[in-house]
Amino acid sequence: MNHKTRFAPSPTGLIHIGNARTALFNALSAYKGVFLLRIENTDLERSKDTYIQQLKLDLKSLGLLWQQEEKQSDRFDIYAKYYQQLEQQDLAYPCFCTPEELALSRKLQRASGKAPRYAGTCTHLSEAETAAKLDKGLKPTLRFRVPRGQNVEFNDLVRGTQQFASYDLGDFIIRRADGTPAFFFCNAVDDALMEVSHVFRGEDHLTNTPRQILILQALNLPIPEYGHISLILGNDGLPLSKRNGSQNIQGMINDGWLATALVNYLARLGHTYTDDNLLSLEQLAEQFSIERLGRAPARFDEQQLRHWQQSAIIKASTEELWQWMGEQVHQLVPETARDEFINAIRPNITFPKQAVEWANTLFIDEIVRQPEAQTVIDNTEKKFFNHAITALEASQGDYKELIKQLKQTSGAKGKKLFMPLRAALTGATHGPELASLLSLMGTELAKMRLRF
Ligand code: GLU
Repeated sequence: MNHKTRFAPSPTGLIHIGNARTALFNALSAYKGVFLLRIENTDLERSKDTYIQQLKLDLKSLGLLWQQEEKQSDRFDIYAKYYQQLEQQDLAYPCFCTPEELALSRKLQRASGKAPRYAGTCTHLSEAETAAKLDKGLKPTLRFRVPRGQNVEFNDLVRGTQQFASYDLGDFIIRRADGTPAFFFCNAVDDALMEVSHVFRGEDHLTNTPRQILILQALNLPIPEYGHISLILGNDGLPLSKRNGSQNIQGMINDGWLATALVNYLARLGHTYTDDNLLSLEQLAEQFSIERLGRAPARFDEQQLRHWQQSAIIKASTEELWQWMGEQVHQLVPETARDEFINAIRPNITFPKQAVEWANTLFIDEIVRQPEAQTVIDNTEKKFFNHAITALEASQGDYKELIKQLKQTSGAKGKKLFMPLRAALTGATHGPELASLLSLMGTELAKMRLRF
């Protein structure tokens, strides 16, 4: 769809799969349009450049490329203009209440069974009162004057009609006492000024939306369409958060999760696809539809992600897998055996570390035998392995020939034949096809492994 969407992260931590899913839905929805990356770094203390660099890298690793980039810290002058406009129209006013006073007021309201909202202490300060407080050096926040007795209604793309009474919202802060803009304000103003047509974001922002709509109405700016998607819950049933370090993208990519697997998994968390195949970003975008966004909370399920990982490995190019397998594998596997190695182990691995294990098994003399393999070997007569060595020499690398001869000389067949052979050759009872493994390790190493 040729929408204009945005991903608007606050760079105060590493982005996790919940953030990545938000970015993905926005990118898919604007696949033929414009996907904007807006860095919301108005919290100058908690925002860090390293997080900005990292989140850009994460988006790139996932293939989510943006066509426009903005940073809120560059835009304070623009926000100042709009604050002034609101103040001139008396739609915003300075508030001198201290955090302690506000906390006390909220506590009192709660105690009397009311939902806390701004009590209105500074709503009607006279010019003289304001001037006197400013003279004393007090630093006010700026509050938005919420219109009284109004119903704010909007149609959420995911959750349908939403209604909020303006009375419940209370006047809210749009500029902090230190002069920095509050999220509600610059986020909404930027969506309008940057001509964002659709906002997909977590449902934790649903109750911010009526406030943002009121700001945009007051400034006579266009209002985007909003779709609030269900949060992804962690294994513990709690929402993922940057602060508890849950499933951050950087860590997951370092662990070896493939980008294709991640996007295929995430695209299906909160959006239904009828196509169960591994899809490219372009295909995911073609089949993305707002009507298919769901409301039910999604839980992170590693099993599902593994399923996509395996599909992604099967589909990946050898070059891609080679890079993914990493330095240790590059050291062990000879250049000439590269493609054969990759194709042999491809169906049997989920992470690069397993590729390292297979490279060790196939190209290093010493192996550590797994206990099950040791048991199989202990339960097999020595002479079976002697027959195997003879058959190996006679067959000269022809696997079928080897099996045929070993069957005849040892009298073993089926599992009794293949298991001890596999256990001795690889030190494991499971793994890729024996024929390929044997061809990769070569006759000399195989013979050594069969000698007991
Ligand atoms: N900076 C906000 C956040 O990271 C953006 C919310 C939004 O998408 O509107 O939560």
